[in-house]
Amino acid sequence: METYLPSTHSCREPILPNAQELDTAADRLLEELPREGVGLTGVTHHLTKHVLPACNDSSLSPHYYGFVTGGATPAALMGDMLATIVDQNVQVHLPEETICTTLESRTLEMLLDLFHLPRETWKGRSFTTGCTASNILGLACAREALLRDKLVFAGYGFADASIAELGFLEACLQSGVKGMQVLAAMPHSSVTKAAAVVGIGRQQVKSVSLAEAPWEFDMYQLEAALDDGVRRGIVSIIVAGYGEVNTGRFVSNLRDIRSLVNRYGSAWIHVDAAFGIFARVFSKLDGAHSMADVAGWAEQIGYADSIAGDGHKLLNVPYDCGFFFTRTANILEQNLVNVAPYLAAPPISGPPIPSPLNIHLENSRRFRALPVYATLGAYGAAGYKDLVKRLILHAREIARVVYRHPAYELLPVEDGTEEECISRVFMVVLFRARDPWQNQLLRERINATGRMYVSATVWDGKPAVRCAVGNWRVSTDKKGTDGWGVVEEVLQQVGGML
Ligand SMILES: *Cc1c(COP(=O)(O)O)cnc(C)c1O
Repeated sequence: METYLPSTHSCREPILPNAQELDTAADRLLEELPREGVGLTGVTHHLTKHVLPACNDSSLSPHYYGFVTGGATPAALMGDMLATIVDQNVQVHLPEETICTTLESRTLEMLLDLFHLPRETWKGRSFTTGCTASNILGLACAREALLRDKLVFAGYGFADASIAELGFLEACLQSGVKGMQVLAAMPHSSVTKAAAVVGIGRQQVKSVSLAEAPWEFDMYQLEAALDDGVRRGIVSIIVAGYGEVNTGRFVSNLRDIRSLVNRYGSAWIHVDAAFGIFARVFSKLDGAHSMADVAGWAEQIGYADSIAGDGHKLLNVPYDCGFFFTRTANILEQNLVNVAPYLAAPPISGPPIPSPLNIHLENSRRFRALPVYATLGAYGAAGYKDLVKRLILHAREIARVVYRHPAYELLPVEDGTEEECISRVFMVVLFRARDPWQNQLLRERINATGRMYVSATVWDGKPAVRCAVGNWRVSTDKKGTDGWGVVEEVLQQVGGML
């Protein structure tokens, strides 16, 4: 049987399937439910011969720099396969029947350790399906906390002082709150989506960006918006990006934002740290790692009320993994508790682990902690420092090639020497062709080589391409199939045509 199985150890070029492979797959896909199935052997043949060749190598190739993708470390892949085989339903804490909830809880603690976040501060923790779900939890907790205080002030008992209990409309009517706004600087689109889902509304997401560095807050505008909110009875949620998705840059002044919030009364600070939280694998003491400056970018995250992060990006576990941290577990429970006699956890001795179904969006859920446990166990804190450092250095080599080539412009355009500009790069490289006509075609030209893949975006009103380095297999060497030399060759070749 002729089969195609994607290899985790060699790069496929081209990275995308060709038109013929896609057509064949589309022609051969089952069109309807077969009356008699083809059996396991038949379907295996179909999947390996027709379907897999028509999938792209977005998570397998180190030179797929689209979106922020990541891959799966060998240990994560093994953990994920085992999670599928044992197929635990991680919803009710049943420590006398399965270890899965205990392992999930332990894994969340290990993640906090990885990011140098104190366990005693971040007591509300959960695994999610991804950072969008984590942002939904963030805005749901914010909404709940902001109105809880006002409802208690209006005379409600603690148990009823809740949007989850009363509903948004009733809670606003009873508390006298006239509205809710989300204040952000270039938020990820999923923040807007989260605002839509939790009933705040897309139109209430307001941009308060600094003109010359739009990933940062304009503190005058932010203060004006908070002040305006207080005067009009509107409560505010501040969403800070760690990092902004085009540039990889971080909101740098969470401490100042916290003092502003304290001055204007209640507001909740949520950090969308989908990939930026990985700057915290370094600590400021890591002089030898030469990544102390990167550690500094995410240093102030402790001023947040909640943090959203992604597992399936830089942690390099397979898709279907994000995480969420907040200061209290009970705000999650207030939102998400799921009451049914048949789902009640029996009384147990041992550490008090909340039943996941009371602090998550889902009831039945995958054992998504297992691949995380496996990869953290296999590589440890040191392994992740090495990995994230490798991603950053690889991205910076790409940035240097772009910086030095006359046909390209490294973005955002800022003052400074070459070294200074390069040292601001985390793991996303944003650039364009200087010639505006050629710039329209830049992404297509790069991707047409089949050797690397970038995604399109718009920066400053003009097209740009972004190169997000997220796969564990990238190398800091120039040479070799995983090195940045491949990128240099492609950029020189395309640059020569511009
Ligand atoms: C990817 C991303 C998200 C959304 O995460 P998903 O895992 O795709 O749901 C949110 N915010 C930022 C900054 C991201 O990069």
